Amino acid sequence: MGKATGFLEIDRKDRTYDAPAERLKHYREFVIPHDDAGLKGQASRCMNCGIPYCHNGCPVNNQIPDWNHLVYENDWRDALTNLHSTNNFPEFTGRICPAPCEAACTLNIVDQPVTIKSIECAIVDRGWKEGWIEPQVPAKKTGKSVAVVGSGPAGMAAAQQLARAGHSVTVFEKNDRIGGLLRYGIPDFKMEKTHINRRAMQMEAEGVQFRTSVEVGVTVSFASLQENFDAVVLSGGAEDPRGLNIPGAELPSVRMAMEFLTQQNKRNAGDDELRAAPRGSLLATGKHVVVIGGGDTGSDCVGTSNRQGAASVTQLEIMPKPPEKEDKALSWPNWPLKLRTSSSHEEGCEREFAVLTKRVVGENDVTGLECVRVEWVDGKMQEVAGSEFVLKADLILLAMGFVGPRKQGLLEQAGVELDPRGNVKGNVVDYKTSVENVFACGDMRRGQSLVVWAIREGRQCARAVDEALMGVSELPR
Ligand SMILES: Cc1cc2nc3c(=O)[nH]c(=O)nc-3n(C[C@H](O)[C@H](O)[C@H](O)COP(=O)(O)OP(=O)(O)OC[C@H]3O[C@@H](n4cnc5c(N)ncnc54)[C@H](O)[C@@H]3O)c2cc1C
Ligand code: SF4
Repeated sequence: MGKATGFLEIDRKDRTYDAPAERLKHYREFVIPHDDAGLKGQASRCMNCGIPYCHNGCPVNNQIPDWNHLVYENDWRDALTNLHSTNNFPEFTGRICPAPCEAACTLNIVDQPVTIKSIECAIVDRGWKEGWIEPQVPAKKTGKSVAVVGSGPAGMAAAQQLARAGHSVTVFEKNDRIGGLLRYGIPDFKMEKTHINRRAMQMEAEGVQFRTSVEVGVTVSFASLQENFDAVVLSGGAEDPRGLNIPGAELPSVRMAMEFLTQQNKRNAGDDELRAAPRGSLLATGKHVVVIGGGDTGSDCVGTSNRQGAASVTQLEIMPKPPEKEDKALSWPNWPLKLRTSSSHEEGCEREFAVLTKRVVGENDVTGLECVRVEWVDGKMQEVAGSEFVLKADLILLAMGFVGPRKQGLLEQAGVELDPRGNVKGNVVDYKTSVENVFACGDMRRGQSLVVWAIREGRQCARAVDEALMGVSELPR
């Protein structure tokens, strides 16, 4: 611990944002980072707790007090080495992780957690700026080959670890660019895509081969992978979206959030409209937009709709409004249920809770959405009599989560057993599926989750594959 009294002398102060009016003019990131002195002060607030709850709260078990200390000591390079020892891509999590570590921080008991995520982000951003992040080419090759199916954070982490262990790794990706939901789900204003491109270059220099626009199960068969590789890692995500089963849902302007978000990210990448939206442009410009679903995907639709110039944006959530503040005695150090207001919400949107959608209104296309308020009685949801209302709507975006991985193609051909939730069955010790030499990780194994969990599973799965191929593994778990 750098400064024993830091947490007593210095208040928590997090990164700030450009004003909404400014940031709504573009799709770039808009976080204003701390300067070095500010960061040193924030790092000095860490108490180096006997039991570092932050470390346990972090899914990749980042050694948070250690790098807080190193930043306080101005030893940024060692801080980066330490951070990379548990997380392949801290620039992803430093931008978009909900930071369960901060919820778990001892100082969160008094609502003043250490600004762990900002410090993480600053360490890795500095590493890139200084040129400290270089390819780690393995000293010798093992002669074994691994196919990784899916290039989201789970597949990327698995591929990087396996390449560093000396295996020949090929990543198959059905999209035209790598990155999974980081590339085509999460908007640029949350995470610009240069961060993925830089890592891809690093990984290629380490020996990873990326094969984009190749869908395993369609473009190439799963059997050909089994024939040509010693092991296969399934990291294809949980792409099957939850649909809306109400009258009128078939009208043309009821659309999936992912179609909307993907198109905008492709435009941001410089694709022309034909490449970005081959089945026709989907834009919120001038429209009354209703987003159904109160999670991250819904929030990203809100931010994107506002940037496109929507006439109004309303976000609906079926669950009741959570409390503004959690009861720390009941929740800490766990992730609390409380109202979360994202930067996209701050940019302007109506939020409605405890609302059930009944019918999409419109003849040839959407003109409105009929809803009713709901309440919970004895744990059961019931409609509130007389509370029906109609929202004006020209575009309805469905952001109600994902039910699991797509079954057609890849999983049908692989013939792997599924768990009761429809995800690929595999445990978190050996990450093995029911098919020999086939492993699974990330959202494809655990269901819809977070980037940080995908990185953890990718890393752990890589170790399991290495162990299976070589008998032993020096990769960290
Ligand atoms: C809109 C949105 C916003 C989100 N925001 C956040 C956030 O702010 N913070 C956070 O932590 N998490 C967020 N998440 C969740 C997070 O993105 C996922 O949990 C994470 O990306 C899962 O990583 P993954 O590698 O398992 O799968 P994915 O990222 O889904 O990647 C899977 C990849 O596999 C490819 N693939 C699938 N099948 C095949 C095949 N047969 N052949 C070849 N390739 C295939 C897919 O094209 C895809 O590129 C968000 C999710 C969405 C949808
Ligand atoms: S819980 Fe908070 S104060 Fe304690 S070691 Fe972790 S970051 Fe530092």
